[in-house]
Amino acid sequence: MTHVSNALSRRTLLAGLTAGPALTAIAPAAAETAAVKTAAQMAQAALKDATSTKLVLLGTAAGPVPGRSREMTSHVMLSNGSAYILDCGMGVTDQFARTGIPFHALKSIFITHHHADHNIEYGPLLIVGWIQGMPLDVRAFGPPPLQQMTVDFMRAYKQTVDFWSEDFKMKPLVSVNVQEVAAAGPVTEDDNVKVSAIVVQHPPVKPALGYRFDFKDRSIAFSGDTAPLEAVAKMAEGADVLVHETMLVPVLENYIRGQIAKGRPVKFDDFMAHMKADHTPAEDVGRIAQEAGVKTLVLSHLTPAIDSITDDEWSAPVAKYFKGEIIVGRDLMVV
Ligand SMILES: [Zn+2]
Ligand SMILES: [Zn+2]
Repeated sequence: MTHVSNALSRRTLLAGLTAGPALTAIAPAAAETAAVKTAAQMAQAALKDATSTKLVLLGTAAGPVPGRSREMTSHVMLSNGSAYILDCGMGVTDQFARTGIPFHALKSIFITHHHADHNIEYGPLLIVGWIQGMPLDVRAFGPPPLQQMTVDFMRAYKQTVDFWSEDFKMKPLVSVNVQEVAAAGPVTEDDNVKVSAIVVQHPPVKPALGYRFDFKDRSIAFSGDTAPLEAVAKMAEGADVLVHETMLVPVLENYIRGQIAKGRPVKFDDFMAHMKADHTPAEDVGRIAQEAGVKTLVLSHLTPAIDSITDDEWSAPVAKYFKGEIIVGRDLMVV
């Protein structure tokens, strides 16, 4: 079994932000684009030279839709050698590995809310991460029922974990330390960062959270999934970076009309009413960022996440209201 020797050699070799092992272990299909490799190599180079806290956008697409060039939502922040993951959409484990950040650097995982594009790979990240050297004292934070979900997932995979730990004489991953977050306020604090949360508006999901990370050298705020919300502007006040979900309404309307014409079983008015009640149009993203006075605004959780939309199309409606730096998120981009 070649993946066994890969796993062992990775564990031996991954001592720091080394690029080689992470890439060789991926065994990319021949068709995997050069663009993915280049983005990974660029991220690795940026992190290797980093002297300050960095944010890597691991997945920048909205919605639980597989097979796109953008992965579902996830991020990692690297500060002083410790890694903090925010959201676990499908692809988080691969994308994390592509950054070259070793799994032993993973300190905490944060979940904004329990939609599949934010949590579906939470369990697999824990198991694969454990095999790759994730510390057993990794912590997880997120809305209820995260504790129960973690226990249930670990129960489902107990045999799998036990086989592996017996084979490789590893201490088994039994569970992780979960702290549920159900209300606004301080979440956790360690040597690198103070984390706080707000409750955002994303019906019927309750609670859905936004987070702010105040590192020693940099503050990074995340809207999570939300309708336009004053609380996000307040949370992000004076932050260096705000990562905000972004929806292009006219493009989405055209896109969904096309989908319905192809047989997607939704009604146009129902679909758009849901999207407007749950998500933030680009113009409002600009207003909120301007009110918050952030230095850099990252547009992410892009709706619709289709490749034909140019960066200018994403940023133009935002730039009408926000006068700071606008970054259109791309997977593996280092901010
Ligand atoms: Zn989402
Ligand atoms: Zn959502």
